[in-house]
Amino acid sequence: MGSYLSSRTPSSHTSPTKDDKEFKVLIAGAGIVGLTIAQGCLNNGIPFEIFERDQKGSRAQGWALTLHWCLRSFERTIGPKLSALLPTVISPTLSITLRLMDAAAVDTTLREDQGNFLYYNCATCKPRYKIPPSKQRLRLSRQKLRDLIATGINVQEGKGIQSFETLPGGQGVRAHFADGTSAEGSVIIGADGNNSVVRQQLLPEKAKLNLLPVNLVGVVRHFTPEQAKGVRELDPLLFQGLHPETGNYLWFSFQECIPSPTAPDASEQYSYDALVIISWVIKDPVADAIPKTHAERIALMKKRAEGYAEPLRSIVMDIPDDLDFTTPLRLSDFPTIPWENSQGRVTLAGDSAHAMTMYRGEGANHGILDAALLVDELVKVHQGQKVLKDAVDAYEAEMIPRAHAAVLKSRQAALDAHDWDSLTEASPCIGARIPPVTA
Ligand SMILES: Cc1cc2nc3c(=O)[nH]c(=O)nc-3n(C[C@H](O)[C@H](O)[C@H](O)COP(=O)(O)OP(=O)(O)OC[C@H]3O[C@@H](n4cnc5c(N)ncnc54)[C@H](O)[C@@H]3O)c2cc1C
Repeated sequence: MGSYLSSRTPSSHTSPTKDDKEFKVLIAGAGIVGLTIAQGCLNNGIPFEIFERDQKGSRAQGWALTLHWCLRSFERTIGPKLSALLPTVISPTLSITLRLMDAAAVDTTLREDQGNFLYYNCATCKPRYKIPPSKQRLRLSRQKLRDLIATGINVQEGKGIQSFETLPGGQGVRAHFADGTSAEGSVIIGADGNNSVVRQQLLPEKAKLNLLPVNLVGVVRHFTPEQAKGVRELDPLLFQGLHPETGNYLWFSFQECIPSPTAPDASEQYSYDALVIISWVIKDPVADAIPKTHAERIALMKKRAEGYAEPLRSIVMDIPDDLDFTTPLRLSDFPTIPWENSQGRVTLAGDSAHAMTMYRGEGANHGILDAALLVDELVKVHQGQKVLKDAVDAYEAEMIPRAHAAVLKSRQAALDAHDWDSLTEASPCIGARIPPVTA
């Protein structure tokens, strides 16, 4: 079993960890949060192994996401300051974050982002709210971001964690994988997403996701330069809206900007892929259910968008009827509660600790902040300034209440997003995304 260790710690590369003299972090899940933790370990010379259930390419690319208030923490964890400790960074003045972001940006042609986040009345296509912009935000391709922060990390794929055990005599933890293998370390971090296996073992009776009364269908569809023109005039990146009478919510965001080198005119150089989501409150379990086939789901999206004004209407109506991929989702969440962390031997980060709806666009921001703060604590353990239990306790003491409140706010935002009268400036759907004090 391979492991990635930075060049600062070559001697422990092959030694299995049996005690805290050879501190080693095991990370379950190579999503954005697991990989950010891995980068933080790498940059600080902390030995680690990272395990991913899926094989690369076995997953759909994933929807784009916005990073805003987590950017400083993200940069601190993967960027020049910590990277300057590593000889592999050529120049501390060359901002790694800038290079990463440029490469992972949804639209590399956009040099300026006004930070607009518009909420439309879908019946009139007039903006109802402009959500206060974050000081800085980046709209990123999830897959490209993930690939970039996997740079230099040996992700062990096909390693779905099934269970873990703490070893007797304070000798660490052992993770067991679905393929029958196991790995030992000092601490295991469950960054294994919203259906976390690690969370299920930590909180056997209480780990279940709460089902919320909202269904959605999402598709990624193509826009020709001509189809994109009117939509990009509304916003070049993303917006949302609601039909006041029907309660059918629309999410729209460009996913990918595709150059067409053969286009005769500069304004026709780009076509786009964009994410279109329609969601609605489940009032009747049968009438509001999500159909089984892709064709039926696309037909339902079109039916629900019938009262939309142009160009919002065409965003949905021009979805090809024979598109062979739709994503159905029943919203759910997990407001974080404390667990027994076995003297700091096991903890959670990201969606595994706080699955939340996306109506405030904060899930990854919280997850990246988790990663940054957890790495800060692990550095102290690695440097002998703190014992593991105190470090993990300190991380959880900040994260659990922060994440619990964020999950509930996102839940309220999801419900308000479908109810015209609840969409006031006091709603967490509309209010500013204020950074936690620790970000
Ligand atoms: C439509 C949509 C839009 C969103 N937009 C935003 C946004 O704009 N801004 C924002 O901040 N957030 C957004 N989010 C939320 C954000 O996507 C998540 O919070 C974030 O991706 C969570 O990252 P993660 O690494 O914790 O989990 P995941 O990305 O789910 O990664 C978990 C990883 O663990 C792996 N895994 C699962 N089980 C196991 C196992 N047993 N063993 C090993 N590995 C395992 C999975 O394969 C996966 O690779 C959005 C979510 C959605 C659905």
